[in-house]
Amino acid sequence: MLRLYNSLSRKKEEFIPIIDGKINLYTCGPTVYDVAHIGNFRTFLFEDFLKRVLIARGFDVYHVMNITDVDDKTIQKALAEGKSLSDITEYYTNLFMKDLSILKIIPADVYPAATEHVDGMIQMIQQLIEKNHAYLAQDGSVYFSIKSFKDYGSLTNIKMSEMQHSDRVSSDEYSLDNPQDFALWKAYKDEDGDVCWESPWGKGRPGWHMECSAMSIEYLGNHFDIHCGGVDNKFPHHENEIAQSVCAKDTPFVNYWLHSEFLLVDGGKMSKSIGNYYCVSDLIEKGMMPEEIRYILLSAHYRTKVNFTIEKQHEAKKGIQRIIELRARLNEINDNMDNDLPLEAEAFNNALDDDLDSPKALGIFFEWVRSVNSALDKKTISDEQSSQGLNFITYFDSIYSILPASDSVPQSVIDLANEREITRQNKEWGKADILREEILKKGWIVKDTIDGPKFSRI
Ligand code: AMP
Ligand code: ZN
Repeated sequence: MLRLYNSLSRKKEEFIPIIDGKINLYTCGPTVYDVAHIGNFRTFLFEDFLKRVLIARGFDVYHVMNITDVDDKTIQKALAEGKSLSDITEYYTNLFMKDLSILKIIPADVYPAATEHVDGMIQMIQQLIEKNHAYLAQDGSVYFSIKSFKDYGSLTNIKMSEMQHSDRVSSDEYSLDNPQDFALWKAYKDEDGDVCWESPWGKGRPGWHMECSAMSIEYLGNHFDIHCGGVDNKFPHHENEIAQSVCAKDTPFVNYWLHSEFLLVDGGKMSKSIGNYYCVSDLIEKGMMPEEIRYILLSAHYRTKVNFTIEKQHEAKKGIQRIIELRARLNEINDNMDNDLPLEAEAFNNALDDDLDSPKALGIFFEWVRSVNSALDKKTISDEQSSQGLNFITYFDSIYSILPASDSVPQSVIDLANEREITRQNKEWGKADILREEILKKGWIVKDTIDGPKFSRI
């Protein structure tokens, strides 16, 4: 039985989909005004992990991840760089897609962009006005009236009766201490440049919260199974999404809300000034393999903070290597695969089914690796055990995806090796040694043979 911690009820609940065997999943996507950092990818990897467990349990998962390509931040960036909004957002969307694929994240079924769904947002705002949940302000903006929804605050546990709710707020993000009427539609301002749409209330643009309500409902229906994001999305974003969606449609909205905790770097917040602000490309540049990044980020439970340090690469590399070596040892004995898994797989699955307890499942898996290695040393392993072992490794990797597809050498390493060959031909031994060091930093050893350079993993 799969149990998931539902932020709405603040407890673990048995997971039951609305339609048997099928899951509709919405995950808040990136705001494409800058390169996504590894904090963002902590959340996207948690969602990938969830999806892989759901798929392993036999569910047919339909996954929607939006692209926020119009909001306060994207408009400000376009203005600051003197570019059009689409120049900025297309550039960062492409980078995001590349990083998703580098990190082996299973693609969503659809990535709707906010700017292509403004009609649906306008319709939903109209419904909210008709039902007296929203009102038009003097400047042509439309606001949601939080006092019109008696359940406002249920996700973040705000007791509205004990709170003084103050004025209204036009910016997309604001603090939990101050619940306010928030903008569904923002009237055009000069700073918006040419970013605007016609609406029944005049020129303007949608608020960020409205984007996710309208797009999730358009693709997944008024009522769907799971909605995810990072903890910072809980307020105001998800609280406001619930209010808008429930009030516009008069139906329940989402059954399970799942939120991942924050990623810290070197024990604190990532900061460009300290120099510990990492994007995927920075880490790859430093010689980290995508699988090592996955290992580090998935070795913590999604509801605890994960501390990222470059030093953790060593532990990740060692863990991955242990699995690769065990697979090679088992392959030597047996390549006859049947479908059975060893007994230990049950405890592994139980850990995953208990609100995706990834560190516990990893611990069980590595304990099993140790015991199989020891049986191999003692030559007490049967054909059946080795076959089950290979199956377990394949199954494990369908969820963690931390084993390189093959030990294929990355292009950046080949390029360095080619450069090194030229320096060797020129007898520039000092330069050749520096290049060998660089290759080493990327996790590879290069050996010079008569057939040319040969590579092996550290
Ligand atoms: P954004 O592009 O800012 O809309 O964020 C995309 C996703 O990353 C959201 O689900 C955020 O909650 C999440 N996120 C942002 N910063 C972090 C962080 N340091 N750790 C984990 N998740 C984060
Ligand atoms: Zn969202």
